[in-house]
Formats: sequence, structure tokens, C-alpha cells
Amino acid sequence: MNDLLQRVKEIDIRQVARDLGFELIQTRRMLCPFHVEDTPSLVFYPPPQNEFHCFGCGKRGDVINLYADVCKIDFKTALEELGNRYIPGYDGHGSNKTRKIDVKSIYTQKPVEEKPFVFQEQFSRIYEDFQQFCLNLPATESTRKAAEYLRGRGIDDWTIRHFRLFVIKNYGLANDYLKEKYSTPELIASGIMNERGNLVFFKHPIIIPYYQNGRITYLQGRTIGDPPEGTNKYQFLTGIPRTIFNIDSLKNQRGNVEVYITEGAFDCMTLVKQGMIAVSLGSAKTFKKEWIKHFKKFNVWIWFDNDTAGQAGARDLIEILHLNGIYVGMKYLPSGIKDINEYFQQR
Ligand SMILES: [Zn+2]
Repeated sequence: MNDLLQRVKEIDIRQVARDLGFELIQTRRMLCPFHVEDTPSLVFYPPPQNEFHCFGCGKRGDVINLYADVCKIDFKTALEELGNRYIPGYDGHGSNKTRKIDVKSIYTQKPVEEKPFVFQEQFSRIYEDFQQFCLNLPATESTRKAAEYLRGRGIDDWTIRHFRLFVIKNYGLANDYLKEKYSTPELIASGIMNERGNLVFFKHPIIIPYYQNGRITYLQGRTIGDPPEGTNKYQFLTGIPRTIFNIDSLKNQRGNVEVYITEGAFDCMTLVKQGMIAVSLGSAKTFKKEWIKHFKKFNVWIWFDNDTAGQAGARDLIEILHLNGIYVGMKYLPSGIKDINEYFQQR
């Protein structure tokens, strides 16, 4: 079964899309079947990544997700059907039928408008309260470790203050404080707590606040140093759409100045420390169409990580910005250097 999953995940997602009846443009993109649009914003990442991502509605996934969601069937059924259809010699259960979908009706059927996410000012209040509480506690061992780690990455005291980074000095106290002040459903809605009513930043005590119009609109947690086995380096809020890190720095800038878009927040901080204007997206694949407007008047440089995901993400972003009339170029890192942060540290 695991072998089937692996093999099905490797079926070229573009082939499956074509076989479902979709028309691909330049073998890279198509009109999104999951939201109404006139210009195609669903992009395919060819194998080995083999995923799709819609820059219009944010929907993303692998070949099985695409198939399941287009056909409105569950994951297991989709896996079986794809196995039957594409894996030679696979003799699964389930039917052997070839699914035909009516692409035309998918596109013309106006789906029920999803309730748009509304960011509540209360969320900002919770994040800011949390930040203030953490800053006010006396320093602990984890503060020292965090500062040491950040310094090792070239994030100095100026940078920490400038971006108002903070550390969860005492997880238990922070948890209790928030629960005393706010209701659990409120905290869960703000993405800062999980369904069990615990702060989501259990293993991620370094907190990077994202500001928009002077208010915190997003929080990102980072482990101190390398994450433990089975944990990601970063922890994001649950169910809250990410905003752009350092977006306020684009306000009051002249037109035509050079603006850098980086993947990681630390990369952005590094460039700002170097005197450049920079923002970060938090990952290589999160760009949203409504963000285009922020970059209209600038000369944009995309400077992503030196890996497959980074380079693929950078190319897609260049295409999107370029199509929208934005002057955009790509910066590369020397080979062997993984990100901007490392690059400036080695100089
Ligand atoms: Zn879409």
C-alpha cells in the first residue's frame, strides 16, 4: 500500500490533468477548477515535485489531491483509481473505470462563494498582548540560547529590536496568561492555540511578528537551532492567512527603487541590515494575487533559496509579476550557498 502511494505520487500531475480533460497552457498552468477566474493561475510544478498550486485561491496539493478534489471523491478512492489507471500491473480492488469529468461545466458552474476569511482586529490584540507579555518577563535560559543562536545567524541586537522579535521565555506562563485574558475559542480562532487549547509554538520559542499598518497580523515561530526529529524549523499560525513580512517598509518608498523579495524572514532581515529594502514571503510558494499591487511601482528582485523549491518558486513568481507589468529580475546565490543569510555571513 505504501508502495502504491509512492508510485501514484510520481505519476506526472500534468498528464493526469490532461487525461481529466483540462487544457494546459505552455504545459505549466491552467484555469483553476476550484475558483472562478478568467486568467489561469493554477501552476504545475513538474516532477520530482509533482504538485499544483493555485495563486488565485491558494489551493495546492499533489496529484492525488488534484484528482480527488476535481472528481469530488475521497483520497483513498482517488489513490485506487489512479493506481488502476496508471500503474502497470497494479491489481487493486475498486473499479477499473476511467473517470470522465465535464470540464466545461466545472468552469461554468459558479461554485458557491466561500465565506471569505475576515481578519479580526481582536487577533492583532491577542498577538500584541502575547508579545508584550513575553518581552516583560525576565530573561531565562531560553532567552540566552535564542540570542546566541540568532547572533550565530548574523541577526544582531539592532535587527532583533528593529523587527521586534521576541522569545517565549516560559511556555507554561504564556499559555496561562493568554487563557486568563481571552476565551479558548477566541485563541483558537486567532490561530495561536490548537484545538487542545495549547500555544502552537511549543517547540518554536523564537517568534517573528509580521506587521501590517503598524499592527501585528501574523506570527511565525522558529526552533532554536536545528529542529528535533519530526519537527519543522518553522511553526505558522493555524488557519490564518500569512501576510508579507516587513510589508510596511514599502510604504512611502519612491517609485523605481529596488525591492527584494526573499523566501525566509531571516534573509529579509539580513538584507535590511545591509541597507536594502526587502520583504519576505515566508516560503517559496505562498505568493497571492492580491499581493501584486504592493510591488507595482518598484524594480523587484526575487532572491530565493538555492534549492529546487526555491528556484521553481522564483520562476513562477517572476512570471506572475512580469505578466502584471512589473519590472522584475532574479538574483542567484553562488553554488554551495543555501540562502541569503548564509551568503552574507560568509562574506
Ligand atoms: Zn484557484
